[in-house]
Amino acid sequence: MGTEREAQLARLGLFTVEDLLLHRPRRYEDRRHFRTIAEMQPEEPATTRGTIVALGVKRYQRGAKSVFEIILEDGTARLHCRWWNLPFMQNYFAVGDEVFVFGKLKSLKPRTIDHPETEVIEGGEESSIHINRIAPIYPLTEGLPQRWLRSLIWRTLEQFEPEIREPWPQLALKNFPARANAVHMLHFPEAISDIEMARRRLALDEFITLQRDIRLRRKKFEAKAIGLPCAGTNKFIKPFLAKLGFNLTTAQTRVLRELRHDLGGAHPMRRLLQGDVGSGKTAVAACCALMALEGSYNVALMAPTEILAEQHFQTFKQWFEPLGIEVQSQTGSHKSASHATTVRKNESPIFTIGTHALIESGFAFERLGLVIIDEQHKFGVTQREQLVRKGNYPHLLVMTATPIPRTLGLTLYGELDVSVIDELPAGRGRIKTFVREADKLPKVWEFIREKLAAGRQAYVVYPRVEESGVNGLKAVTKEFENLKKMLAPHSVGLLHGRLASAEKERVMAGFRAGSIKVLLATPLIEVGVDVPNATVMLIENAEQFGLAQLHQLRGRIGRGAHDSFCILVAAAKSAESRQRLRVLEETADGFRIAEADLKLRGPGELLGQQQSGLPNFRFGNLVEDLELIKMARDLSAQL
Ligand code: ADP
Ligand code: MG
Repeated sequence: MGTEREAQLARLGLFTVEDLLLHRPRRYEDRRHFRTIAEMQPEEPATTRGTIVALGVKRYQRGAKSVFEIILEDGTARLHCRWWNLPFMQNYFAVGDEVFVFGKLKSLKPRTIDHPETEVIEGGEESSIHINRIAPIYPLTEGLPQRWLRSLIWRTLEQFEPEIREPWPQLALKNFPARANAVHMLHFPEAISDIEMARRRLALDEFITLQRDIRLRRKKFEAKAIGLPCAGTNKFIKPFLAKLGFNLTTAQTRVLRELRHDLGGAHPMRRLLQGDVGSGKTAVAACCALMALEGSYNVALMAPTEILAEQHFQTFKQWFEPLGIEVQSQTGSHKSASHATTVRKNESPIFTIGTHALIESGFAFERLGLVIIDEQHKFGVTQREQLVRKGNYPHLLVMTATPIPRTLGLTLYGELDVSVIDELPAGRGRIKTFVREADKLPKVWEFIREKLAAGRQAYVVYPRVEESGVNGLKAVTKEFENLKKMLAPHSVGLLHGRLASAEKERVMAGFRAGSIKVLLATPLIEVGVDVPNATVMLIENAEQFGLAQLHQLRGRIGRGAHDSFCILVAAAKSAESRQRLRVLEETADGFRIAEADLKLRGPGELLGQQQSGLPNFRFGNLVEDLELIKMARDLSAQL
């Protein structure tokens, strides 16, 4: 093979025979039945074929611009195909050539397609690979002809198909073609239905491979890691629950039983706690921490923002200090633990709360029994591991309020056991959600002033810190003065990521204490903030956010006994995004919302950049393949 072709294949990531055989067509063309040129419809992509009767390049703007055109005939009509500013296209065609054309008509008089995909039909012994069949159309790179790649894959299949083995001969894969057969059908299907059959088989293999790897990792881990005895004695938990001020929900209690079982198990706990916003994960984390603390082990809790870490610090001090447990904080700006960079071994164990600062290299723990990670979707897998490695196989509890649709959960968190708090504490007010256009804002502000006058508090969220000049997005620093005037005499506080930590703390403390009535903030407050008296959440430019993120923001309200109101204001022009926002009007179920977000924006967007742990599937589809993923999980257990 020439080095030029090799370089082109390399650009497509194709280095081995296997790469080539798994190169997935991006679409197929049924070249057994195609439309006549006369049957082509405007705006409807389709394949047709015809013979070139004329062609040529026209130049204009003194030769700076050009259009290359070919005119095809098939006995029913003529078709003009045009390419703008690609004059070299003329090298690929000649009058008399027969050509396949795929595209959609731009106009009918004359029938014209701009920038269609084309393939010249050549005679000879190879022609049966390319015509009179369902032909694969592959992703290409510059200079690589579709026809050449298709022939290469055909020949490779001829030679190597007999060598494609069943990867799991011991598994009975009913209703699936053999892998070799699937690879064949992927490229050269006999029927349109073969394509999906092949994809499902190849996707299943991907999912089984992943689940097998997860199982192997887990096995290895269990072979070398012994669980620290952290199931507790009840000496802290009993008085803690007695003074807590509410009873745990049935779901919280059930989860605690699961946690206690893990903490007393032979291997360290590796558990994900999922619970919708406001379901009371913090109290569960506290009980879990107390179990380890009862065993005289130290505990660390990591949160993604300073604001949340500080809030937890206040909460846990209030909860734990009466029990004689020292609570420390370790954030970028706030280091009550910094007098000793090692949390020492001590008769009385220590509970340390922090941000990423906890994983800084200088900071060490002795007798680390349990690591808790709050809002874990904001961290990467590596950060989680870095904290865990500060101890000698401590137990790990990761918590998230981003309900991961089950497909993702099984792949992303496959190596974690999962507990779910599927119940909200009783006695909460309802949350009503409204989607409004910006012209309704005066009424909205009137409504907010009413609520403030009645003693409630409000959040106002804009997407940006500072104005960037583009697309009219509101910025908190710009609107702060306006808002203060408009809402006087009610006090307004400003919160965003670029403020100094001390200022952030001051504002949050004021809002928590009620001296600040309105918190104007960026989505920074998305995670964890808990102020039950705040009952209004106004989000402008709501079309900028994902549904799951809006659901998180909405989770800041509805935490007390009063009814709460979430108002999503979207730009008037974006009717489509208002439609999307209606999902939030219709449901408060975080799982349904995440599912919708996954469908609309895909897994990468839903989980954010941090989750680089997402496997890259060629055939598997995390949105559609739940059934296959579950099947793969069961099957991998038999390996
Ligand atoms: P999240 O799961 O979103 O982290 P939090 O732990 O912040 O939720 O809890 C939300 C609020 O509910 C807090 O004010 C907390 O004190 C309260 N809460 C937690 N559990 C219960 C319960 N069983 N009954 C009543 N209130 C509870
Ligand atoms: Mg929380």
